[in-house]
Formats: sequence, C-alpha cells, structure tokens
Amino acid sequence: MTDFKTYCAILDRARAGHFALPAVNVTSLTTANAALRGLAESKADGIIQVSTGGGAFASWTALKDSAVGAISIAEHVHRAAKRYPIYVALHTDHCLKDKLEKFVNPLVEETEKRRANGKPNLFTGHMFDGSNLSLDENLEIAEKLLARFAKNDLVLEIETGAVGGEEDDVVGEHSAKLYTTPEDTLEVARRLNPIGGRYLLAATFGNVHGVYKPGHVKLRPNVLKECQEAVVRKYGEGARFYLVFHGGSGSAQSEIHESLDYGVVKMNVDTDMQYAFTRAVAGHMFKSYDGVLKVDGDVGNKKAYDPRAYLALAETSMAERVKKAVTDLRGNGQTMFSS
Ligand SMILES: [Zn+2]
Repeated sequence: MTDFKTYCAILDRARAGHFALPAVNVTSLTTANAALRGLAESKADGIIQVSTGGGAFASWTALKDSAVGAISIAEHVHRAAKRYPIYVALHTDHCLKDKLEKFVNPLVEETEKRRANGKPNLFTGHMFDGSNLSLDENLEIAEKLLARFAKNDLVLEIETGAVGGEEDDVVGEHSAKLYTTPEDTLEVARRLNPIGGRYLLAATFGNVHGVYKPGHVKLRPNVLKECQEAVVRKYGEGARFYLVFHGGSGSAQSEIHESLDYGVVKMNVDTDMQYAFTRAVAGHMFKSYDGVLKVDGDVGNKKAYDPRAYLALAETSMAERVKKAVTDLRGNGQTMFSS
C-alpha cells in the first residue's frame, strides 16, 4: 500500500513522465487479486477501486451495504498488497451527492478512527461525482470534502462535465456537457486550490461509460490541453491539473496516449476487466459443460464445478488485461517501490 506522501510523488512522476496508473474496479477478493497480480507482473504501481455498486455486491447481495463491502475489500488489499513489490492505492469510484452519506462519509470516518489510533488510512482517495449538479453546487460540496480530506491525507477526485453512458446506476447524459470547458476548470482551480491537499480532476472530453461502437461519440483530448494551458496561464505551473480519464473502454491507443501527454495520471478501467474475467468463465463452461452440469442423470465433475476451477482462470485472464492496460498507459516497469 502507498501512503499519501508516496502517492503524491507517484502522481507527480507519472504526470512528468507522461504515463498513468490504471484504476481497476474490483468487486470481490478474486478481482482484487487479479488487479494486484496484473500490476505486480507489470512492475507498475496502480489503483484498486471500489464503486458503490461494487461495495454493495461485496457486502453480500441481500445486505447491499456499499460501505461494508468496500471496507472488506480494502482490508483484503491492505494485507495482500504487502506481498507484492509495488505500491497500490485504494480509491472509491463515482459517488453521487445523495450517496455520500452511505458510502464516502462512513469510509472517511473509518480512516479518521484509524488515524486516531496511529493506523494507516483505509482508502487513499475518494471520488465525489457532482457532474450531474450545477458547477457551483458541485464545487460547494467538493470544497467541504477537500477541507476534510486535506486534514486526513486523503486524495479527492471530482468530475466536471458529464460522461455519457452508464456505469453502475450512474446514467450520464448523451450530448450536453460531454466536453468540459477551460472556464469550468478555471473555476475548479479558483475554488479548490486555496484549500490545500491533493485533488484529481476528471474533466470530460467526450468520454462514454461502457463500450459503444466506434463513432458513437467523438473524443477530443485537445479539450484537456486547453484546460491545462488556461489554468497554468492564470494561476501558474503549480496549478496544473492531475487529470483522470473516465469511460475509456474501447478508446484508440492514440487517443489514450494524447491524453497522457496532457496530464492524465489515472485511467479508470472497468468494462474491459469485466469482459476479460467473464470471457474465461464462459470458456470454461462451454468447454466443460458436461463436467459443470449433471447431464442426463450423470454426476458431473467436481474438479470442473468447483468455483476455484473457473475463478482461477478468470483471475489469470483479468490479470492479463490489467497488464495490457498498464502497457496502454506506458506504465510498464515504472513502480517507485524500493527505488
Ligand atoms: Zn465519470
């Protein structure tokens, strides 16, 4: 696990070196292990991320307490990450205003309790998604969160503009606000920078959550460049943003690389991981259907229907996809661990 100081140094180095950390969404021990393994095999630092839906799932499907599930996953990652020679940060993903109370707030309280007892933070950072609100209300909430986060060495992630498509229960708009403007991001800097601490900005540039056929929406990474130039012109080099790329599944390599050149340091990867995981399970089920099923009164094959048989394959397949994400983000071998 990384502490706040190291994490800030990792983000600084990524931005200066034009590479980024994949933020892999996980919902279980197996997917968390796949993320750790993929990062470690790439010798890359990275981010493991839990959404409200992921936390609810991990808590058990009848309880659906997103904070409980997120804490369980985080505690596992704290233990498991110790065995790998890389740094791992733990984030929570999109959290709308009306879910802060049930998700982000209890997790921050948990970190505050741990810190009071001399223990490390539970999560490294949390995202507040106010992109469905007015910019003013979005930033009003972000200001309060950042003040609290700065005291606790927590990183805040916010979003301006709206991402299209659907992720968990967050349904984005399809045309309006798909591109953040330099004016929006100048307002972000004006209001958040005096508070201190560290925040990441998901400024949308035509991103769509989930996978759509090519041509659905036009990505314009140049929007990020314009936002950075405007903020540096007005507030100086120290105000340059740490950007996050949401909704990047299915993006062209050239678009990803261009966004890295403009200061993207974190890229969320969820949909592609889900497919990699399920693809391996599907392969197992089709290949061993007469082992996983009791066909025509037969007894099946315990070795085939033991969940470990296909979950291990899924772990390997997802770890490979994580390695590809690291490569796409120019992150191979970039760990700061022991250097
Ligand atoms: Zn987003």
